[in-house]
Amino acid sequence: MKEYLTISAVRNGLKSGEFTSVELTEYYLKKMDAMADLNAFITIDSEKSIDCAKAADKKISKGENKPLLGVPLAIKDLFCTKGTRTTAGSKMLSNFIPEYESTVTQNLIDDGAIFIGKTNMDEFAMGSANITSYFGPCFLPYRKKTSPEMKLVPGGSSGGSATSVASDLCVAATGSDTGGSIRQPAAFSGIVGIKPTYGLCSRWGMVAFASSLDQAGPLTKNIEDAAIMLQSMAGYDDKDSTSENIKIPNYLDFLGKSIKGMRIGIAKEYTDGINQENVELLENVKTWLVDAGCEIIDISLKTTPYALPVYYIIAPAEASSNLARYDGVKYGYRSKNYKNIDELYINSRSEGFGEEVKRRILTGTYVLSAGYHDAYYTKALKIQQMIKDDFKDNAFSKIDLILCPTTPNTAFGVEESSKMSPVEMYLNDVFTVNANIAGLPAISIPTGLSKDGLPMGIQVIGNRFCEADIFKVSYVIEKSACFEELRKKILLV
Ligand code: GLN
Repeated sequence: MKEYLTISAVRNGLKSGEFTSVELTEYYLKKMDAMADLNAFITIDSEKSIDCAKAADKKISKGENKPLLGVPLAIKDLFCTKGTRTTAGSKMLSNFIPEYESTVTQNLIDDGAIFIGKTNMDEFAMGSANITSYFGPCFLPYRKKTSPEMKLVPGGSSGGSATSVASDLCVAATGSDTGGSIRQPAAFSGIVGIKPTYGLCSRWGMVAFASSLDQAGPLTKNIEDAAIMLQSMAGYDDKDSTSENIKIPNYLDFLGKSIKGMRIGIAKEYTDGINQENVELLENVKTWLVDAGCEIIDISLKTTPYALPVYYIIAPAEASSNLARYDGVKYGYRSKNYKNIDELYINSRSEGFGEEVKRRILTGTYVLSAGYHDAYYTKALKIQQMIKDDFKDNAFSKIDLILCPTTPNTAFGVEESSKMSPVEMYLNDVFTVNANIAGLPAISIPTGLSKDGLPMGIQVIGNRFCEADIFKVSYVIEKSACFEELRKKILLV
């Protein structure tokens, strides 16, 4: 089997008979076993995957043609999968087997995809390093050149999905992004990750973290795969009241199209004070875009510094409400240690949730409490509106897309991350949360390597439902970056 197969390579291979879906699935399952130390997966059901691959092979032999027919994908363990355990990285859901399929995974199944495993993630998608999972940390498959002994984080919360794509344990994966959880791990892992416009992908059947911010999206080996995956995942769903009924263009049509005349905004609030490596990366990308006929325009988005504090009020507020359903009664973990109903609630929640989740519940409950609601939550919502207006008035009235780094730094050590304060960890999202707060689509493209030999990502943020523009420009960046060549220089574990 060739390494690092993309969706179109797999489709060609399946069609020409070079390999079958069963052979491909077995190949990945074997690799997943050999690389089990990375801890990228929480649940693997090999038998079910092989059965699905067999069914796909039958369809292929009959000449059926679906965009993902027979393609093995990894699924973040936040998407409910009928009959397959879905934990959200938590002890609370460690025994939860959903009776239903999430809309996004159903869409992928309808397009012929095969699921080879449920990927590791930060508990309830809360984190930036995949170290809060009840199932243990997940590791980046790369090492720093200067300290090869150090184990690195893949980013979070979709760390398992990022690692499984980067280590070639699947063709592509799903993730979710509430404040950066697709883009940040994509940047650390040298792969593509897109968070679509809020409302493009249905949230139905996704374990809820902060419902007004959560969005599903793909993590893939290249831009073309991201377009194919998003096409399949997206779509109106009447089971999600925030799903938008819009006409979705064929994203593949936009790859390779001219970007001449497109206006690319650089906001000084996203670039002042960034490290030298990010400065150089941004300069390179600017040059490529100018060469392709784009116009670079300086803009200012003054509300940028408020997005992170606003996020850390709104997200915990919604989380505290969403997570109230885990009470040890209806489903999920139940403590054995109780004498009355109060103790049942208290002990089930105390034992079932990890430290970070408890911190968010406490913060959220506090900012929603009668005495502090106006001072924190209501104020945060007002500032959220100002941030949205800022994008509208000071960015998308003058430019088409915003270009900025995805993360302030590259992947850090697992041990180092356990010593970080919560606020230090939260600062990882400083360039990504803004898109969530404003509901905008944003992508991370692998674009360069740091001096230490680790991947660096560049972020492109678009206007609402302008995913096609993002793909068009990202494709040019991808071609100019030649990341396939850079990937060969990364030190693998
Ligand atoms: N790192 C952020 C947090 O911990 C974002 C998480 C996410 O996007 N799911 O909240």
